[in-house]
Amino acid sequence: MKCSFCGHEFDENEAVPACSGCLMSKNCKLVKCPNCGYEMPKEPKWLKAIKDLLSKFHERNHR
Ligand SMILES: [Zn+2]
Repeated sequence: MKCSFCGHEFDENEAVPACSGCLMSKNCKLVKCPNCGYEMPKEPKWLKAIKDLLSKFHERNHR
Protein backbone atom coordinates (compact mmCIF):
# COMPACT_ATOMS: atom_id res chain seq x y z
CA MET A 1 0.00 0.00 0.00
CA LYS A 2 1.00 3.62 -0.41
CA CYS A 3 1.52 6.11 2.37
CA SER A 4 -1.01 8.89 1.95
CA PHE A 5 1.40 11.31 3.59
CA CYS A 6 4.77 10.84 1.90
CA GLY A 7 3.82 8.54 -0.97
CA HIS A 8 6.22 5.81 0.11
CA GLU A 9 5.04 2.39 -1.07
CA PHE A 10 5.35 -0.52 1.33
CA ASP A 11 3.89 -3.91 2.11
CA GLU A 12 1.40 -3.64 4.94
CA ASN A 13 2.78 -6.91 6.35
CA GLU A 14 6.20 -5.28 6.63
CA ALA A 15 4.84 -2.11 8.10
CA VAL A 16 5.57 -1.31 11.69
CA PRO A 17 2.46 -1.97 13.78
CA ALA A 18 1.06 1.40 14.68
CA CYS A 19 0.67 0.62 18.35
CA SER A 20 2.66 -2.43 19.30
CA GLY A 21 2.68 -2.65 23.06
CA CYS A 22 -0.61 -0.85 23.32
CA LEU A 23 -3.46 -2.68 25.07
CA MET A 24 -5.74 -2.00 22.14
CA SER A 25 -3.32 -3.48 19.63
CA LYS A 26 -5.65 -6.33 18.75
CA ASN A 27 -8.34 -3.89 17.72
CA CYS A 28 -6.00 -1.41 16.14
CA LYS A 29 -6.40 -1.24 12.39
CA LEU A 30 -3.71 1.31 11.79
CA VAL A 31 -0.45 0.70 9.99
CA LYS A 32 2.57 2.91 10.28
CA CYS A 33 4.61 4.04 7.32
CA PRO A 34 8.21 2.79 7.70
CA ASN A 35 9.44 5.91 5.95
CA CYS A 36 7.79 8.79 7.78
CA GLY A 37 5.92 7.13 10.65
CA TYR A 38 2.53 8.39 9.54
CA GLU A 39 -0.32 6.22 10.81
CA MET A 40 -3.16 5.31 8.50
CA PRO A 41 -5.95 2.71 8.32
CA LYS A 42 -5.21 -0.54 6.53
CA GLU A 43 -6.41 -0.77 2.98
CA PRO A 44 -9.31 -3.23 2.71
CA LYS A 45 -8.82 -6.06 0.20
CA TRP A 46 -11.78 -5.04 -1.91
CA LEU A 47 -10.38 -1.54 -2.28
CA LYS A 48 -7.06 -2.95 -3.37
CA ALA A 49 -8.81 -5.12 -5.95
CA ILE A 50 -10.63 -2.09 -7.38
CA LYS A 51 -7.40 -0.11 -7.55
CA ASP A 52 -5.68 -2.97 -9.38
CA LEU A 53 -8.53 -3.13 -11.87
CA LEU A 54 -8.38 0.62 -12.43
CA SER A 55 -4.64 0.64 -13.00
CA LYS A 56 -4.93 -2.21 -15.51
CA PHE A 57 -7.67 -0.31 -17.27
CA HIS A 58 -5.44 2.77 -17.37
CA GLU A 59 -2.52 0.85 -18.83
CA ARG A 60 -4.74 -0.45 -21.60
CA ASN A 61 -5.97 3.01 -22.43
CA HIS A 62 -2.48 4.39 -22.73
CA ARG A 63 -1.40 1.88 -25.31
ZN1 LIG B 1 4.98 7.91 4.87
